[in-house]
Amino acid sequence: MSSNVCKHCTHAACLDVCPTGALFRTEFGTVVVQDDVCNGCGYCVAACPFGVIERRSGPAGARDIGIAQKCTLCYDRLGAGLEPACAKACPTDSIQFGDLDELRERADARVRRLRDDGVEGARLYGHDPEDGVSGTGAFFLLLDEPEVYGLPPDPVVTTRDLPHMFNRAGMAGLALLAGAALAFVGGAPVSGTTAERPDAVGRSAAGGRPDAAGPGGQGRAGRRRTHGGETAMVPPAEFTSYYGRQVVKPAPWKGEIPAYMFAGGLAAGSSLLAAGADLTGREALRRSGRLTALGALGFSMVALVHDLGRPERFLNMMRTVKVTSPMSVGTWILALYGPPAGVAAAAEVAGMVLPRSTAAPLRLLAAAGRPAGVIAGVLAPPVAAYTAVLLSDTATPSWHEAYRELPFVFCGSAAAAAGGLAGAIVPAGQAGPARRLAVGAGSAVGDDAGARLELESACRAFERLGAAADLAGARSELRRFAPAAVVSGLTQREVEVLRLVATGRTNRAIAAELFLSEKTVARHLSSIFAKLDVPSRAAATVYAYEHGLV
Ligand code: SF4
Ligand code: SF4
Repeated sequence: MSSNVCKHCTHAACLDVCPTGALFRTEFGTVVVQDDVCNGCGYCVAACPFGVIERRSGPAGARDIGIAQKCTLCYDRLGAGLEPACAKACPTDSIQFGDLDELRERADARVRRLRDDGVEGARLYGHDPEDGVSGTGAFFLLLDEPEVYGLPPDPVVTTRDLPHMFNRAGMAGLALLAGAALAFVGGAPVSGTTAERPDAVGRSAAGGRPDAAGPGGQGRAGRRRTHGGETAMVPPAEFTSYYGRQVVKPAPWKGEIPAYMFAGGLAAGSSLLAAGADLTGREALRRSGRLTALGALGFSMVALVHDLGRPERFLNMMRTVKVTSPMSVGTWILALYGPPAGVAAAAEVAGMVLPRSTAAPLRLLAAAGRPAGVIAGVLAPPVAAYTAVLLSDTATPSWHEAYRELPFVFCGSAAAAAGGLAGAIVPAGQAGPARRLAVGAGSAVGDDAGARLELESACRAFERLGAAADLAGARSELRRFAPAAVVSGLTQREVEVLRLVATGRTNRAIAAELFLSEKTVARHLSSIFAKLDVPSRAAATVYAYEHGLV
């Protein structure tokens, strides 16, 4: 029989990541949850390498639903000078309590005795102060491998790699910032619907090879042998475990948390676009960026509070600042980012609703719009990147192992979501930077081929994890990109029409070749002219040659 109690780790991941300070180390060296401080975020559940902590479940409205629950080693009894109830009640003394060094000596002697009696597999688990959690306060005498009892063979405190995770997030955030800046480079300052210079369109992806390397080294990976399409030589593995128990508990988060992360990324990307648009005179892009940022931020907060169960639980995270907890760090990043994003959006709304008002508060708000928008833009990359650290700093193996790539995936996703949305709702004459941000952020991290940050990074993560099916899927998505066409926002049909225009075909010849009516070809042509911001067939032809479409 295996006891699945809290191990009271010397270096406890749950303690490190708790954003509220609800978990604390007692004077006895044990780790205990305070019911009244815990906000039910579930981070400790995802971080515990032994999977022993849970969120309390029960009927809606019942007391303390959702808060963390685990063995306290009977903190109240220890305080009263008593031994824990389990040790007291166990009739065979299988559970023993006492001074740790003394218990270790006693356990060593028992292991020696068992081995002398021929039990070769006898071993201690969790007794070694040099292991990945610096030893545990509750350790076990096992008769077989740890996996047989549903225990992880080599537990490691999840925060061990935290400095590297924050480093990678910093690099990804800088890449996003640089990608956003590059998206605006080359576009002439415009006002109203005045068009941008055509030579700026598609700059970040110019000359890109669809299969070239990005930050994730897809080019190198592409030359290596892939697993897609191989015939399996062994039958599918069947997973069995100790009484069906999972070794590591899955993170307790449901749909609200992915929604919170996605919306946060969208808000961050939109703030970057809005700041760039403001500084380069693109009014429509600025307006959409500011309003989208506030809307997405509001949605993300609602999703988070819904996951926590009660609004006031969010405030528990503001009672402490903890650099070992990405959730605490993220809370403070959001607290810094929210107000300027809100002021920028409010200035936008005030300008739309009362454009000619001379009231002092409105003039003040209008004047604050630009600095607030720029501050929100500067804080946006951390908003997009911290959630990747939050996921990586858990005991979920695939998330933890992907910590090098995950921030780039998240920042790429923020750029793609914000750029894609703005590209769809902002007039074509001002949407160039949005389209470039949507697909070209990879160029900011040194990829001369303008790779797509999110997909390239995902490919590298899947490769590292050996996730062959996911890798094949992501690579096939990458192959669907035609960089120049995507950056400029052309549809596949428009690319075909443009290619034929560039070869000197007339509308009638194109219609015949593509089995379209001449009227449809003319419609495609005017859309191409608008998207590329070119005035003539000759200019469209130049664009097509410059961007390798013919
Ligand atoms: S076993 Fe899990 S819950 Fe217990 S102290 Fe270690 S990390 Fe925390
Ligand atoms: S606040 Fe979150 S991390 Fe801390 S004990 Fe409660 S559920 Fe666990």
